[in-house]
Amino acid sequence: MHIFREPKVTLLARQEYLGAPDINWESDSDVPGQSLAEFAGRLCYLSFGPDAGFEGGHKLISGRTGNKQYLDNILNVKHGSVLEHAVWTFLFEGVSRALTHELVRHRHLSYSQLSQRYVDESDVGFVLPPEIEEGSPAFEVWRRSCERSLEDYRTLLAQIEEQVEDEPSATLRRKRARQTARSLLPNAAETKIVVTGNARAWRHFLEMRGSASAEAEIRALSLKLLAVLNGEAPHLFGDYRVVRQENGTAVIETEFGGV
Ligand SMILES: Cc1cc2nc3c(=O)[nH]c(=O)nc-3n(C[C@H](O)[C@H](O)[C@H](O)COP(=O)(O)OP(=O)(O)OC[C@H]3O[C@@H](n4cnc5c(N)ncnc54)[C@H](O)[C@@H]3O)c2cc1C
Repeated sequence: MHIFREPKVTLLARQEYLGAPDINWESDSDVPGQSLAEFAGRLCYLSFGPDAGFEGGHKLISGRTGNKQYLDNILNVKHGSVLEHAVWTFLFEGVSRALTHELVRHRHLSYSQLSQRYVDESDVGFVLPPEIEEGSPAFEVWRRSCERSLEDYRTLLAQIEEQVEDEPSATLRRKRARQTARSLLPNAAETKIVVTGNARAWRHFLEMRGSASAEAEIRALSLKLLAVLNGEAPHLFGDYRVVRQENGTAVIETEFGGV
């Protein structure tokens, strides 16, 4: 039985920023998501500076000429819609169906997840909940239960395949068997999911799922995700701190929450 011990986070895609050829303005950030969010914010007041090439409302507000200062102010005044232009796509692997059940509650993210109706799960792995110590009695209970469910899955799959053998479509035959057998798989069954989100949606996710009250596995995912997003766009995610609590739990905190 394959056991997954931590989530794997892979950055699949980021944006390209092309700029507007007719507007004479450049961001001092070379991060596309950051430049784009700044451009979008500046467009609201046409605050690209006097040389931008159009009439009226063109002043630069002093102290907000750079990308970092500009986006700091956006976070501070909670002008969050500007952040929606910056987008990243991730592949999450080694996560449980329990985790993705919580993940997909976030309605501003977009998802494509491995189908248990289409894919044969006879060799599916299981995600070890962080609270369970390997080798402990609790681990033995967990491992035995996962093994048993996998065995029962394979048995039921074979029985339903036999039951629906008159079904003329091979695809439907497989689906009917797999969709029935999967009912025996536990929340710990491993899954894979592609998730696309804008900076505002990712920030909300990090705040909810990186908090002290969040479930341990999804909090671990949030910490990994934050490390990548912070590396990608420090002006959009650099306000987050990872704080270790007295009980050793690492949680995500910021003074610019709820943007
Ligand atoms: C610690 C913890 C425990 C939880 N426990 C439970 C539980 O026991 N049972 C349960 O069912 N869920 C539970 N949840 C899930 C929670 O209720 C939310 O569904 C989930 O966190 C998604 O966040 P969100 O509702 O803020 O919405 P998101 O979909 O992430 O949207 C972000 C924001 O957009 C706005 N928004 C989105 N959709 C709408 C809308 N239709 N109308 C108005 N505003 C909208 C809201 O401001 C929202 O905060 C829990 C979450 C956490 C973090």
